[in-house]
Amino acid sequence: MSKERILIIEDEEDILALVHFNLVQNGFQVECASSGEQGLRKARDFRPDLILLDLMLPGVDGLEICRRLRELPDTRACPIIMLTAKGEETDIVRGLETGADDYLAKPFSNQVLLARVRAVLRRQNRNDSDKEKLLPIEHGDLSIHPGRNRVTVAGQPIELTYTEFKILALLASRPGWVFTRGQIVDSVHGDDYAVTDRAVDVQIVGLRKKLGPCGPLVETVRGVGYRFQEQNGDG
Ligand code: CA
Repeated sequence: MSKERILIIEDEEDILALVHFNLVQNGFQVECASSGEQGLRKARDFRPDLILLDLMLPGVDGLEICRRLRELPDTRACPIIMLTAKGEETDIVRGLETGADDYLAKPFSNQVLLARVRAVLRRQNRNDSDKEKLLPIEHGDLSIHPGRNRVTVAGQPIELTYTEFKILALLASRPGWVFTRGQIVDSVHGDDYAVTDRAVDVQIVGLRKKLGPCGPLVETVRGVGYRFQEQNGDG
């Protein structure tokens, strides 16, 4: 099996060296860039399977790099994990809405880094087959049948509103993935039905209540948005 390629774009040399070392140790092929401009060049030449992108970069910042990576045909589909510092929640939200797939808050352990990298690569492979979207999603006692707008908890049907169902189906379509309120609004609203950020919070409260024991599967990511809990083990 060929090694998966990871590009790190990070200006802090200590972090760059450490992440590089850890990823190489774990069998990845790694390239480094210490500025955004260099990162864009390497992304084109190296063709990474995944990009780790620091948000706070000198010159062109990480958000702008993320935007450009999403516009280039060669890197449009490449997953991006943002590396962020504490207090950058607004940037995390903007980054996710610009097309980043996940984020990792500094400082992070080697273990967390590897888990995140593997999860994103695994999801990327899984997303290649869109057929799965209409299969029921099962998580513990919860079953979601996207094709039939039907949800059961421990075999008992749950009455959800159209909006609640859409939000749940969206989150559960990518377990472990954080969706911002803006992304939820975009995905849920019809042309004649305005959903606001605040309304999303209200919908989530109602949704959790109706899901009862499965309510905690819908997790709040403080300052960023919501996600559906990832299955333990290899799920
Ligand atoms: Ca930095």
